[in-house]
Amino acid sequence: MPTVSVYVPTPYRKHTGGQTVLSVEGATVGEALAELCRLRPGLGDELFTATGQLKDYLNVYVDDAEVRTLGGLAAPLAGGEELALIPAMAGGSMGMRLLSPDQVERYSRQIILPELGMAGQRKLLAAKVLVVGAGGLGAPVITYLAAAGVGTIGVVDGDLVERSNLHRQPVHRDQDVGGSKVESASRFIRELNPDVAVIAHPVVLDSTNALTVIGGYDLVVNGSDNFPTRYLVNDACVLLEKPLIDASILRFEGQATVFMPGQGCYRCLFPTPPEAGTVPSCAEAGVIGALAGQMGSIQALEALKVLLGVGETLANRLLVVDALTGQSRTFRWQRRPDCALCGDHPSQEGLIDYVAFCGSGPPRRGVDAPGAEEVDIEEARALLAAPGALWVDLRPAAAFAAGTIPGAVSLPIEELSGRLEQLREAKRVVFFCEIGQKSQVAALVAADAGIRAANLKGGLLAWRDRNLAWQDRA
Ligand SMILES: [Zn+2]
Repeated sequence: MPTVSVYVPTPYRKHTGGQTVLSVEGATVGEALAELCRLRPGLGDELFTATGQLKDYLNVYVDDAEVRTLGGLAAPLAGGEELALIPAMAGGSMGMRLLSPDQVERYSRQIILPELGMAGQRKLLAAKVLVVGAGGLGAPVITYLAAAGVGTIGVVDGDLVERSNLHRQPVHRDQDVGGSKVESASRFIRELNPDVAVIAHPVVLDSTNALTVIGGYDLVVNGSDNFPTRYLVNDACVLLEKPLIDASILRFEGQATVFMPGQGCYRCLFPTPPEAGTVPSCAEAGVIGALAGQMGSIQALEALKVLLGVGETLANRLLVVDALTGQSRTFRWQRRPDCALCGDHPSQEGLIDYVAFCGSGPPRRGVDAPGAEEVDIEEARALLAAPGALWVDLRPAAAFAAGTIPGAVSLPIEELSGRLEQLREAKRVVFFCEIGQKSQVAALVAADAGIRAANLKGGLLAWRDRNLAWQDRA
């Protein structure tokens, strides 16, 4: 049997009576370490997880090579090698930080899971996760990641809390209506778990800030509710090589999947967005809160699995849940070698204009329906220079109250059909919303009613991008 020497570092010498180097026998690294642990009781718990894996924060060297590069514990020994046990040392690193008694108590029900353990809990406490959107999906994601002790949670959302959000976004309360979503989500996290550091990003994620915001995190959970943001977050995660946990909901149906770096992306699954206006938003089509809770919980669970490195994630599988029948199915998908972003010969190297990418398709029209005009900012301004023309802000009243295009009037889209007659006197009407999707539908509805309506392409995102005049009403 080959004999090797093992270097034992300071943290483990309490088990060796202070001895620095020990001689052991073994035909493989695993056998040699097993022999060491047999000779020195107590060491085993230091070196191995409950399932017999080397602990993640422990590197084992065979002479100069880390054992994972040699095939792991099965790596053969010839005799005469020097093994060295090199754990991550404290010195501020979370790697070896002990949990406080409060933390042990708080997380005890998950720490006793063999897949998690103390090492897993330390990993979670050291992890940084960004949640995009503090909405229907974001609320359960935030809840369960914060409760599980993910140590740093970033929340990015530029929206204000509306009363119509509350049925599916229980991190916000009735008294939070009108306030920033990021603000109330941050308060919720702080009140739930003081272990969690919250980073608030009260902004609309766009091509100018996405790489900076996302770059600071280990993993991203996407709870956004529109296609431009969905593609933007995907592209930024591919470029930054961050795992992305994706889900979406509409009416009684939910989808979820996981994108791991190098294994495909949202564009491999859906290379182009649907034509603008063909897939309604939750505001237009409705959504049930408990389904948002279910899909968001799945996202939180997948995020924890990725962070812990346990189980089989939804990577390369699309889970589709039909809440009305209680049935769910999974569909396999693959990275596309011809993907514009993550394929073998990508044609896209950076972030793009996502509003144009998702909104440039021709609007869907009935054959006989009169078309609604699509105008850019210059065209809209020219139209509105004429007397009797009207800018109409379709966003919720609270958003309008916070600020809008100078001279605009408020007409929340839910009230559009009941107030169409009021628009009939206007010579021209230009509708706008946040990204130009709802306004496209509104322009069609109004045009259908004989009103000379146009849609502002790109919505307020495009307006703000150009730093144009803004009426601050707050
Ligand atoms: Zn791809």
